[in-house]
Amino acid sequence: MNSHIMPTYARLAVTFERGEGAWLWDENNQRYLDALSGIAVCNLGHAHAAVHEAICQQSAKLLHTSNLYHVANQEKLADKLTEMSGMTNVFFSNSGAEANEAAIKLARKFGHAKSISTPAIIVFDSSFHGRTLATLSATGNAKIQHGFEPLVEGFVRVPYNDIGAIKTVLAENASIVAILVEPIQGEGGVNIPAPDYLNQIRALCDEFDILMMLDEIQTGIGRTGKFLAFQHNGIIPDVCTLAKALGNGVPIGACLAHGKAAELFTAGNHGSTFGGNPLACSAALAVLTTLTDSDLIAQAGEKGDAICAAFHEKLHSNSHVVNIRHLGLMIGIELDKPCSELVGKALNAGLLINVTQDKVIRLLPPLIIDATQITQLVDTLSMLIQEQTNP
Ligand SMILES: *Cc1c(COP(=O)(O)O)cnc(C)c1O
Repeated sequence: MNSHIMPTYARLAVTFERGEGAWLWDENNQRYLDALSGIAVCNLGHAHAAVHEAICQQSAKLLHTSNLYHVANQEKLADKLTEMSGMTNVFFSNSGAEANEAAIKLARKFGHAKSISTPAIIVFDSSFHGRTLATLSATGNAKIQHGFEPLVEGFVRVPYNDIGAIKTVLAENASIVAILVEPIQGEGGVNIPAPDYLNQIRALCDEFDILMMLDEIQTGIGRTGKFLAFQHNGIIPDVCTLAKALGNGVPIGACLAHGKAAELFTAGNHGSTFGGNPLACSAALAVLTTLTDSDLIAQAGEKGDAICAAFHEKLHSNSHVVNIRHLGLMIGIELDKPCSELVGKALNAGLLINVTQDKVIRLLPPLIIDATQITQLVDTLSMLIQEQTNP
């Protein structure tokens, strides 16, 4: 195909035309089971009635006025988000990377307020925070950075899930103002840290008076069986970033702050033309209302457990399966060899999956996936894994 799109993605040879719940149909009316949700975006499934209704109604009234004026939907969404998260203040953006940019700026402002002239943020190996210059500099993946140097300064990298490594840096580097970390590394391979890892980071951030900043862009909005993943730990971070599933497909991001981070930005410090516009906020409000009016978040926990138990059952005797891990519906199946071909094979079998870090099959099915669809997912993918590993 002679395309005028910049080739930044190696795309699969399929074009989807419509969706409903966990199903998608391509141009030839072939049906696929979506176990990826557009990379943790369509958590409520495709063509969700409440989201559809909300954006139709809002688009008939008003799409945009700018942040020079009050935006009612933005106020309502901030109320709902802070109520559900325990955070206190919100800045709205249009994407995850932009939400993280706001967090990074908050950390630097926090540092300067403490008279630290070269503030630095602790970040992690295998992390992913986005593709803008600051967020790709924070990202722990050389492939994403290569060719775009010079990187943005002010990041100190340590191994993930290693509290000692953080302590060492804090003891040696007085310029550290924040720790930016994913509760579970998504792109990095569905890496789930020790259950008390976030609690230990919280304690260190208190001890050293630095900001605990959680990138919940992939783990948030019910994905792990809690509204936000940090709610498994009974803590509150100082900063938390959201995007992906917040609008169920309508682009919106958010940077939430609490306590010492809540009042850092003042007029003129940050901005966005589109951020928090009436349309995007109407979609996000519909998403949050749907989640609070249902037990879908709890279901994410139960369905994730059921899916992984079923995979264990089918795959326990396969010695090439290194590990099946999950929290809620964030699922990783690690093989002992590269398995990217599985993505195309699954597509041909009518199933959408992802492989990250070459060897980890990543599943992010919508929270509304039903029992029949779960069986189809487990049966189809187990068969493909058996074929792949024992040809
Ligand atoms: C997807 C993702 C981002 C980037 O979000 P964009 O909307 O693509 O900018 C950042 N952090 C994490 C953890 C993500 O999963």
